[in-house]
Amino acid sequence: SNPPGDNSILNQSSSSSLVPRSSVVREIERLKEQRELRRALQDEQRRERSALKSKDPNNPNWEVALMVRTYRDQLQLNPLRYFNPHLARVQQITVCVRKRPMSRRELQGKAVDIISVPNRDSLIVHELRHKVDLTKFLEHHKFRFDYTFDEECSNMLVYEHTARPLILTMFEGGNATCFAYGQTGSGKTHTMGGEFRGKTQDCTTGIYALAAKDVFSELAKPKYRDQGATITCSYFEIYGSKVFDLLLPDKPMLRVLEDGRQQVVICDLTQRPVTKVEEVLSIIEQGNRERTSGQTSVNIKSSRSHAVFQMSLFVPGQAEACGKCSFVDLAGNERGADTQSASLQTRREGAEINKSLLALKECIRALSRHSSHLPFRGSKLTQVLRDSFIGGQQNRTCMIAMISPSLSSVENSLNTLRYADRVKELIAKEDDPG
Ligand code: ADP
Ligand code: MG
Repeated sequence: SNPPGDNSILNQSSSSSLVPRSSVVREIERLKEQRELRRALQDEQRRERSALKSKDPNNPNWEVALMVRTYRDQLQLNPLRYFNPHLARVQQITVCVRKRPMSRRELQGKAVDIISVPNRDSLIVHELRHKVDLTKFLEHHKFRFDYTFDEECSNMLVYEHTARPLILTMFEGGNATCFAYGQTGSGKTHTMGGEFRGKTQDCTTGIYALAAKDVFSELAKPKYRDQGATITCSYFEIYGSKVFDLLLPDKPMLRVLEDGRQQVVICDLTQRPVTKVEEVLSIIEQGNRERTSGQTSVNIKSSRSHAVFQMSLFVPGQAEACGKCSFVDLAGNERGADTQSASLQTRREGAEINKSLLALKECIRALSRHSSHLPFRGSKLTQVLRDSFIGGQQNRTCMIAMISPSLSSVENSLNTLRYADRVKELIAKEDDPG
């Protein structure tokens, strides 16, 4: 028979071949298709480059765009496209990044996309810098995370790598927490609450709903069904140092108390029992309406508050939840760029948000160290989420850092990535036996 690599395999009759002829033909066709696709892609890149070279007068950013393009052309691209259970690691703390696509507005304004996601765990920010003689150059900041999602990744793909592994944690008696972190407009609410179609949000496509679906399929297993286990939902907002119930009309303010055992209780927080996904969806819709009511733009007040959606598992005879899943759509982390003109109120809010995000980082750090000292009193956010950070291995956390792709967001994106990097870096150090 033929030695390996011998092309004469093509001339074999199907009866003497180990590989059925039809599949050989298919393989050849596939390779041919790939080759053609590659050529078409290269042609397109060449055309794009020469278009850029001709100093597009309508595009003030053509030079930067060309520099990014030239760099990107040399990258080996192998972005995350599907969930591979063999590559998924179970970890106590997971830190990921998601880059959103360019918006229509950004495309129309010929904004430059300065974020490259070459593969499943790395990301590069191409920062525009100037030499002393004012010539432009790019500085390439490289980052590594547990997973990096590019603009083509769906909410489902993000969910499978981030929040889905946390569902079991709740059923095993732990507290699981998933944070969406990033500047306003980077995609936190899109990821957690669902895709926007115009102004309306389809909450079936968000992580809250995807998680609810998996919670109910887990709950249907005999182990839990026979126990009579039940689920409740709550949804609240933290604005400054105040907590508001999103499941009651006009979102009343709630008191937060700490008992003698340092247990933090949100008094009278609505715990709505749910028995199926549809009920959870209508709860989410109700909460989202309360969250944004009375606002002219979706992103004015809600971007300055943290929203927390929780599902808790109860078994008969026990007053306290035996496991909890919390999903947190954090307030925008952008710094008040224009602190001079910002009102006192705005500056106070910014300071409060900053404080809570710093406290959050410290608490995740304490969790990763299994530290007995938990600085949860640093902010209202970490205080009400205290349960998420205490205890040993049974609690798990995931942070999804969201970034906008365009050049104009570079400072905020670098801030976001550095924050996420510090969360991960600390953990890596803890894991290091040395
Ligand atoms: P944030 O909550 O961080 O302020 P949003 O989730 O409101 O940001 O997103 C801002 C805009 O970008 C919205 O119009 C949203 O539809 C869009 N967007 C965000 N992420 C994506 C994505 N992955 N794919 C498509 N559009 C997105
Ligand atoms: Mg939002």
